[in-house]
Amino acid sequence: MFLLYSIQPMRFDIITIFPTLFESFKNEALIARAQKKKLISIEAHNLRKFSNDKRGTIDGRPYGGGAGMVMMVEPIMKAISKINKRSKNKKTKVIVFSPKGKLFNQATARRWANLDQIIMIAGRYEGIDERVAQYIADEEISIGEYVLFGGEVPAMIVMEAVTRLIPGAIGKQESLKEESFNNAGKIGKEQLVKFLEYPHYTRPEILKINGRKRMVPKVLLSGNHKAVEKWREKRMK
Ligand code: SAH
Repeated sequence: MFLLYSIQPMRFDIITIFPTLFESFKNEALIARAQKKKLISIEAHNLRKFSNDKRGTIDGRPYGGGAGMVMMVEPIMKAISKINKRSKNKKTKVIVFSPKGKLFNQATARRWANLDQIIMIAGRYEGIDERVAQYIADEEISIGEYVLFGGEVPAMIVMEAVTRLIPGAIGKQESLKEESFNNAGKIGKEQLVKFLEYPHYTRPEILKINGRKRMVPKVLLSGNHKAVEKWREKRMK
């Protein structure tokens, strides 16, 4: 049974100018438990430590002019080489976050759940010198069609989506079986199934909401498993 679990924790390394953002994220709930169980390990690396100067400069003005600052290549390169030196992991991917990247989804999370290590580069300011996406990162990823302040929240999103798929990370493995976007082994791993789970209800059965009584669908209280299954099937999208 033990062998079903990954032998070495999956490593998440984040390159960021705000490493403390990850502290409470790391220390709460199922992400904390996954680290305790040695399923994953998380380390946020302060990009400023890899700067070329004592002031910790990691950005510069954009060539060609324009507003804002751009993150430089060299500190990022140095950070990655330090991370790589320490880890002897084989299956590693370097991800850079950008709104113009490939859209992250459950199929991406499934593909990455088999890796030994994911190194994530969180941008800030106007973004990152394009040569990082061109020559250094394996994949350029967007987490949605909107613009954020930085790549730290995207990194947390990736860590949550991937960690849930590592055997042992969530209490009941069955929870994954009927979950939204799961392909249940029906089609290729890479494909995203636009399947959404049925709605859930819990106590109490009847509840006053804005002056009106709102009930749990009767069939769910019937104890008739076949009927429940049918009801749920109908509501999966
Ligand atoms: N000037 C850029 C936005 C920069 S936002 C543009 O117009 O596209 C600063 C950083 O936040 C980015 O470099 C990226 O790392 C991160 N970021 C912002 N929105 C994101 C998104 N939707 N997906 C992934 N990363 C994002």
